[in-house]
Amino acid sequence: RILDTSEIPEDNIEGDNPLRPKTLSEYIGQETAKENLKVFIEAAKIRGESLDHVLLYGPPGLGKTTLAGIIANELGVSLRITSGPAIEKPGDLAALLTNLNQGDVLFIDEIHRLSRSVEEILYPSMEDFSIDIITGKGQMAASYHLPLPKFTLVGATTRAGQLTAPLRDRFGVILRLELYTPQELAEIVTRSAGILDIEIKPDGALEIASRSRGTPRIANRLLKRVRDFAQVMSDGIITCDTARLALERLEIDELGLDRNDRRLLEAILNFYNGGPVGVETLAAAIGEEAVTIEDVYEPYLLQIGFLSRTPRGRCITAAACRHLGYDFPKGAVN
Ligand code: ADP
Repeated sequence: RILDTSEIPEDNIEGDNPLRPKTLSEYIGQETAKENLKVFIEAAKIRGESLDHVLLYGPPGLGKTTLAGIIANELGVSLRITSGPAIEKPGDLAALLTNLNQGDVLFIDEIHRLSRSVEEILYPSMEDFSIDIITGKGQMAASYHLPLPKFTLVGATTRAGQLTAPLRDRFGVILRLELYTPQELAEIVTRSAGILDIEIKPDGALEIASRSRGTPRIANRLLKRVRDFAQVMSDGIITCDTARLALERLEIDELGLDRNDRRLLEAILNFYNGGPVGVETLAAAIGEEAVTIEDVYEPYLLQIGFLSRTPRGRCITAAACRHLGYDFPKGAVN
């Protein structure tokens, strides 16, 4: 799916994605988060201390990994990247932590997916910068107390609500990333086009931006696909017209909805008279995972007012029906 927000190998040209901003000033949008971070980073540098642990949350593709890299870069330290599911055993985490240098940033993506046993050794390491490792069993068991370098943990999650309270409480800085405005995304698209040597007109950038569901990762991906069309079908320059034509061919409508969004909305409308319908039921009806609906489809549909979330489930809105060309069902909740 071209509107997929998960990372695909193509996003990472030559392993190191050249489109990722390296400094806070290159990072477009997220003004509140950026302003706060700037102060915290500056203060940590003045005091010569490591930065407090940072939790970033928000839908996929909004720039959490990018921001972790920027934090390390601005602090002048190294970045280690891992993810919740990759740290299977307490020993895996211990190996990671003991290999860090003073002040380093450890980035754990999908931190809500850490196992309990790993979380339990993460708490003291975040708080006291030390871990207790137990080796052997029974009478042969021995416990070692290992001091750790003072590091900064940057955790990222799509769902802050799923984090256990003790883990959440150990982050000094909690920042929520918001979906980007079309203007911010147009700036991102223009910047990326410059890096990739693509000629693009301002209205072409805005056309791509307004169909990118508030998500930089999608904007960059659409830019590359539209470039293909521009090169094959015209002179390679992305104008509003070439962007529009290309995105129509990709079946992405003017609000950025693709076939899957329409399928989801139409399922609520046709099978459940507009809702409410529980997310699990809906997931089964369209053959998707409930988490995919919650993390990938919903944030944008909620933001543009096409979906509402009630205690009894999801409902389609009158605006969504109008957009899809249907009448709003009689008796449905709006
Ligand atoms: P996440 O970790 O939240 O899933 P990423 O940090 O991997 O998202 O960002 C996805 C892509 O979007 C990056 O490769 C980067 O090129 C681009 N990007 C994200 N945020 C910004 C931003 N604020 N300014 C410019 N480009 C961005």
